[in-house]
Amino acid sequence: MEYKHFSHQHNLTLHKVQPGQQFQCHGCNLPCSNNSIFACWNCNFFLHEHCGNANRYVKHPSHSLHPLVLLPIPTYCSGSFLCNGCNAPGTTFSYSCTLCEIDLHVPCAYLPPKVSHNSHQHEIYLSFSQSDKNGSPANCKICTKELSAKQWSYFCNKPECDFRVHTFCATSEVKPGLYQDDGPDNDQIQIPVSSNHNTCVYQTQAPAGTPEDVLAEMFQLQMQLQMAQQLNQIFNSAKY
Ligand SMILES: [Zn+2]
Ligand SMILES: [Zn+2]
Ligand SMILES: [Zn+2]
Ligand SMILES: [Zn+2]
Ligand SMILES: [Zn+2]
Ligand SMILES: [Zn+2]
Repeated sequence: MEYKHFSHQHNLTLHKVQPGQQFQCHGCNLPCSNNSIFACWNCNFFLHEHCGNANRYVKHPSHSLHPLVLLPIPTYCSGSFLCNGCNAPGTTFSYSCTLCEIDLHVPCAYLPPKVSHNSHQHEIYLSFSQSDKNGSPANCKICTKELSAKQWSYFCNKPECDFRVHTFCATSEVKPGLYQDDGPDNDQIQIPVSSNHNTCVYQTQAPAGTPEDVLAEMFQLQMQLQMAQQLNQIFNSAKY
């Protein structure tokens, strides 16, 4: 059985990773271990099954203005992007809004809205802003390193608790990559689900047409907005 992925010119085959085998996912740059991967053996091109199946676009709660589109490579001339979720650079797949220069690693885009961590007795919630109660710079309560204001975090919303941690510290024990293959009906459009499995899917709103239609429509919209912005710039600069 062969598969086609928009980011690679050859067909891919599904391969079950054997113990001892080492592959690196081209989508998220993380190693693939004891899972299924999509592979092009000619090019040594590999994708986690969940990265290969990641939605072409998502409506993400951190950026509700525009849908985020899955880009195979960063569109910036530097060839890399800075993730708005974890503040680390990335050179592979990203969920991006090119209008607003929002870019997310695929794993960051799919961080669950809440998780449990054995270092805290309550469930902790994903927060996209650092507007802390006192506004002072915080340190992660798990690794004790600094929590930058540019990073998302997980926090406990109980008033008596002052618990805020890095996203990667909070999810270090969470099974990665259960994006959409966790339920019995994978192909269904789902609303964000929260379960005890520490997994969640941010899904797109039910599209009117096929995904391609919606994508095309979205790009058109983005182009129009971009043109409007450029015109605006020209107009403004012409005044001086
Ligand atoms: Zn991956
Ligand atoms: Zn190939
Ligand atoms: Zn990230
Ligand atoms: Zn945007
Ligand atoms: Zn930490
Ligand atoms: Zn708490």
